[in-house]
Amino acid sequence: AYVITAPCIGEKFAECVDVCPVDCIDEGEEMFFIDPDICIDCGACQAVCPVEAIYHEEELLPEDNIYLDKAKEFFASK
Ligand code: SF4
Repeated sequence: AYVITAPCIGEKFAECVDVCPVDCIDEGEEMFFIDPDICIDCGACQAVCPVEAIYHEEELLPEDNIYLDKAKEFFASK
């Protein structure tokens, strides 16, 4: 799955939401989250993000792994 990281916080440009073919990006309080169970790894969101906040989970920096956990928590609580 792809993961939205820190540059999204407080920005929330939302280009990603419009291009996702499976509609798995949802708005949280401070940032957007990708549902890792639904993401089909197409990469469309990464290509349009103006702040380069989106990475594949296997390309995450170690300190950004927390954002995959945050996304899981966000969708688990919905
Ligand atoms: Fe949606 Fe594709 Fe981005 Fe996954 S990689 S969140 S399916 S646009």
